[in-house]
Amino acid sequence: MENRAEKIVFVTGGVLSSLGKGIIASSIARLFKDQGLKVNMMKCDPYLNVDPGTMSPIEHGEVFVTYDGGETDLDVGHYERFLGQNLSKKSSLTTGRVYSNVLNRERSGGYLGKTVQVIPHITDEIKSKIIENTRGYDVLFVEVGGTVGDIESLPYLETIRQLLTEYPENTYLIHGAYVPYLKASKELKTKPAQHSVKELLGLGIRPDMIVTRNEIALTDKERNKIAMFCNVQKENVIESVDVPSVYQIPLLMKEQDVDKIIARHFKLVLQENEHEKLRETVDKLFHSEGEVNIAIVGKYTSLDDAYISVTEAVKHGAIANGVKAKVDLVSAQELTDEAQLKEYDGIIVAGGFGESGIAGKLLAIKYARENNVPFLGICLGMQLSTIDFARNVCGIAADHQELVPNTKEPIIHLIEGQDLSNLGGTQRLGAYECQITEGTLAHEVYGSTLVEERHRHRYEFNDAYIEALEAKGLVFSGRNPQTGLVEIIENPANDFFIAGQFHPELTSKLTEPNPLFVSLVKYAKAGK
Ligand code: GLN
Repeated sequence: MENRAEKIVFVTGGVLSSLGKGIIASSIARLFKDQGLKVNMMKCDPYLNVDPGTMSPIEHGEVFVTYDGGETDLDVGHYERFLGQNLSKKSSLTTGRVYSNVLNRERSGGYLGKTVQVIPHITDEIKSKIIENTRGYDVLFVEVGGTVGDIESLPYLETIRQLLTEYPENTYLIHGAYVPYLKASKELKTKPAQHSVKELLGLGIRPDMIVTRNEIALTDKERNKIAMFCNVQKENVIESVDVPSVYQIPLLMKEQDVDKIIARHFKLVLQENEHEKLRETVDKLFHSEGEVNIAIVGKYTSLDDAYISVTEAVKHGAIANGVKAKVDLVSAQELTDEAQLKEYDGIIVAGGFGESGIAGKLLAIKYARENNVPFLGICLGMQLSTIDFARNVCGIAADHQELVPNTKEPIIHLIEGQDLSNLGGTQRLGAYECQITEGTLAHEVYGSTLVEERHRHRYEFNDAYIEALEAKGLVFSGRNPQTGLVEIIENPANDFFIAGQFHPELTSKLTEPNPLFVSLVKYAKAGK
């Protein structure tokens, strides 16, 4: 990185996890992007999975799929939504991936004669992945998962230490720390933040900026304390106080001149952009009238983060329609009676894997179809919509090969080339084109006849059933132009009943909502 112009902002976290570092990092990144800089982002995760693709969504939340087919940490989803920019699979690095690369290199003789060690070999590998992500960009934001002090994150922090020392003018470290409010003494306590900075200092790392997470606003007293004990200037103590919507955070960072402070360090010139689009969108969020009540029916409802992109996409759709969205995660396993869905203006049946919750999902689909409730099916939700239609409208005892492998009526089946012997990264992953038939609901929704949406699944709709379903009115309105695979189905008997083999939630951004969610909310609002 000799004499490089590229800048790197590192973001670490202290005291506890779930601080919302990803949101803080992407909020600041958005400010830079709006001011004319080319921004890239990356998440370093300390776990040993090579990628999060094989993890259950109730472990670490949803698996976010990038356009180029990477199965990444859900923070990459936050980055894309805040930035309004697609990121690649290189935006997600795990310790598993780092070790796997180093060990493969060792086996192929790449370190011949050497003892392979955490320092320098693991740290060099991390460094090279970080440097690679700076190429072609002005500023790269690198968030380190976990909390400072964890054994697992040490190699990342050591890499950061080296880069901060080698390139002091081109690197910057933001440390996020929790500042708890003690009700009994009516005080914000800065001691945990001080301790987490001590941990960093012990590793040879001095933060340039502290971003506090606190329930109530910091006073001058706490700012002074944090500045003094955490070794930063007072103007570099920034707060991310609790706000009603995370989408306020970019502007909250703006008010505190975070972009200017960092740009000054880098000697970067920022355009005087007023962030109109961001302001307008956040303004709409707070001046919306009325509310739509949307159910997301899924099997991983015990963790909100398992459907974070779907929930956020509904919110984006609501902002576009000038309404508020109340989003409920409805457990498919506990869905046994249609009455449980009566209160909803719109229903989404989400993607998923395996047997559990299938009956509840089918119940939700049938209910939406028979009662003209605006409906959006996502991936498994689309597959099950064809099963509901085949069984309950066409009288075919259709089934899903994933659930009933030897079914005689495999309406959803494996196509050639799908390999079940290796479950990591072997699905149909990433962005594929979808050709849309003119005059259909899908055409109305997208306003285009060719779109791209992201996939993550193994099974496909079986073309042998097209005629039977079409004869009863189901419309196959989108297909992949290269393979002919079914992408979108819709039921014109209803006002809004549409389902895609893809995950439209993955492309929805705060300021560029996905059209399917905009339309779902539009119809939900109209049907109230
Ligand atoms: N389990 C289904 C498949 O593999 C659906 C996957 C999903 O909903 N993402 O095809």
